[in-house]
Amino acid sequence: MTNDLFGGFGGLLKGLSSFMPQDDPDAKLIKAQSDLNDLQNQETELYAEIGKKSLLRNSGQFPELESKLKLVQSNLKEVQASLEAVQREKTKKDRAERQTEEQCTCPECGHRNLEGVKFCQECGAKLGSSSCPACRAVLPPGTRFCGECGAKQEG
Ligand SMILES: [Zn+2]
Ligand SMILES: [Zn+2]
Repeated sequence: MTNDLFGGFGGLLKGLSSFMPQDDPDAKLIKAQSDLNDLQNQETELYAEIGKKSLLRNSGQFPELESKLKLVQSNLKEVQASLEAVQREKTKKDRAERQTEEQCTCPECGHRNLEGVKFCQECGAKLGSSSCPACRAVLPPGTRFCGECGAKQEG
């Protein structure tokens, strides 16, 4: 928050210097409007900072606002939690897609096959992860020798 505040003051200086005279009234209007927005944002930020500080000192002064604030904060927490859940879901989906991509891509010739096919449509090599017939370890496509027990793989 402190950083935002300092950023705001930097914006204040920039805002004042942009009141330099310019010929085009349209450009002047746009500048003035953006300066106005800037300063209003800074004012809001400062009010928020003052409000936070005074609330820390005199809690209970604005019971209605404080209960609204609590509600907003609890909603915020819920939304953050659901956002995290969605992000986890997305990561899982991305991983599943990568896995499918890997299983469809031929380890021998690199051909991207249709989903669900067991052998490369280009060269006939076996696709998808398989398990070692000797030790049952799961092996990535194209494995020639089992990484667990060293048994030679067929296909
Ligand atoms: Zn192939
Ligand atoms: Zn094995």
